[in-house]
Amino acid sequence: MEPPHESAAGGRKRRRRGGDRNRWKPSSSSQQEPPPAAAPAPLSSPPAKRRRKDGTGQAAAAPKRGNTSSLLEKMRARLSGGHFRMLNEKLYTCSGQDAFDYFKNDPTLFDVYHTGYREQMSHWPEQPVNVIINWLKRHNASWTVADFGCAVAKNVENKVFSIDLVSDDPSVIACDMAHTPLESSSVDVAIFCLSLMGTNYPNYLEEANRVLNPSGWLVIAEVRSRLDPNNGGADPEKFSKAIIQLGFSLVSKDEKNKMFILFYFKKKEKSKVAKSIDWPQLKPCLYKRR
Ligand code: SAH
Repeated sequence: MEPPHESAAGGRKRRRRGGDRNRWKPSSSSQQEPPPAAAPAPLSSPPAKRRRKDGTGQAAAAPKRGNTSSLLEKMRARLSGGHFRMLNEKLYTCSGQDAFDYFKNDPTLFDVYHTGYREQMSHWPEQPVNVIINWLKRHNASWTVADFGCAVAKNVENKVFSIDLVSDDPSVIACDMAHTPLESSSVDVAIFCLSLMGTNYPNYLEEANRVLNPSGWLVIAEVRSRLDPNNGGADPEKFSKAIIQLGFSLVSKDEKNKMFILFYFKKKEKSKVAKSIDWPQLKPCLYKRR
């Protein structure tokens, strides 16, 4: 038993398919709202004519070339911000299988999603993935890790099975995380860092339970607002209780971060899944248009 007291890793290199990857950030539809992506520009309406300072009403000189390209940049950013929000909402409101099929149909959307995610995460004072990486580094490098919704592999010495919806990196297994190709009782740590997105998230945790060794760790970071009953989120106690009923014990909970909560569970030596588990619904984290 140990209460994990992590500190930020800060400035770590993020993995990325074909480059650096920093992944998404969800914000609550109601509570904590870190700066979101900008709203798409209303392209149908032309910009209002500028008035000359002398009040003659004649159109001002055309903007310089530099201004035009920065305007285009802004418009592009707004459009991709809108696209990201749409994809984010999709992931929070469909099943894992639907999400998998959706990205399989057009894998380029996955990059759109992660570009928006990186932008959102850049506003968080602390990245949960860094806390988890530090936790892993303080423990056993020989532990095998299953990283559901991958993030940690390039930053730890452990053997890591990275699982995600899309893969253009041979080290990432593309699948719906409710059904991984991993062997039963084959990993020591299962990580879900902001990845319990699908409406069938309990199936992801059941899968983690299947692949975890007895006494294996289940580490979950989730957006705080999804687990804030005062704002339509789930009761964190109920969430923990459901996972305990799955056959785990709660070792510690870290609530000191503004944007997310971390749970450290351990699979019981002789874990027994309760007959019926009352899983709370986790509130989707939708970004507001601004
Ligand atoms: N853990 C990373 C990324 C979080 S974004 C980090 O903290 O930075 C959530 C990730 O979970 C996305 O990459 C998304 O594709 C993945 N994901 C969501 N639902 C999934 C599912 N059903 N199966 C596999 N991956 C899923």
